[in-house]
Amino acid sequence: CGIVGYIGDREATPIILEGLKKLEYRGYDSAGVAVLSNGKIELRRDSGKITHLETLLKEKPISGSPGIGHTRWATHGEPNERNSHPHVGYKGQVVIVHNGIVENYLELKDELMAEGIQFNSDTDTETIVHLIEINLDQGLSLEESVRNTLKRIKGAHGIVVLSTKEPEKIISARIGNAGGVVIGLGEGENFIASDIPAILEHTNRMVFLDSHQMAILEKDKLTVQTIEGQVLDYKVEIINLDP
Ligand code: GLU
Repeated sequence: CGIVGYIGDREATPIILEGLKKLEYRGYDSAGVAVLSNGKIELRRDSGKITHLETLLKEKPISGSPGIGHTRWATHGEPNERNSHPHVGYKGQVVIVHNGIVENYLELKDELMAEGIQFNSDTDTETIVHLIEINLDQGLSLEESVRNTLKRIKGAHGIVVLSTKEPEKIISARIGNAGGVVIGLGEGENFIASDIPAILEHTNRMVFLDSHQMAILEKDKLTVQTIEGQVLDYKVEIINLDP
């Protein structure tokens, strides 16, 4: 439902939490955050309000960047801890947040389980993260792994991905209309969200992803390309704060 991501030299967690709060009006049943912390994926998530997630993070803080967060509106699997996003791949090298529905998830889940992959949730989303892991495991880059995975999933999607293998990057993609993907350009830091209000406090220079586009964010660089990998020029829009 709501997505926020950050890459830069600041702590990702507070930026993500504040951003998710600005998307609360959209409704949600669960909330979670994942951050790359000392080369490892650290995850806090649960059903309930963002204030509950905030409490979890106060009890067990996570430090680092980049990070991604999500507020979930469950479509597949009841709202509980294990179904909350972010979801981690079977090797613990990839983590994802996802808006949308993987229409062929049952078929993909059967295929992945036949290869011996164990599922930790009842979500459709988890099929995406395992498919990315398989590609990474075969030696492909994160970008290629995401691209190959997008070819396999049916439906409309907004995804944001991190990997311990390429910790200096956030990769995002949009297919169809499962909410938007907007990138906020900062100075030595970049932001990503499903909607403008989540990141407007930090920058008003924004780039909107169209359907079938991918974005690769580094702290001081943005690349936009088609999901086939053709690099595109992008337009920076200045979002006016006045009503
Ligand atoms: N289909 C996914 C799920 O049920 C994503 C839901 C959403 O867009 O929040 O977990």
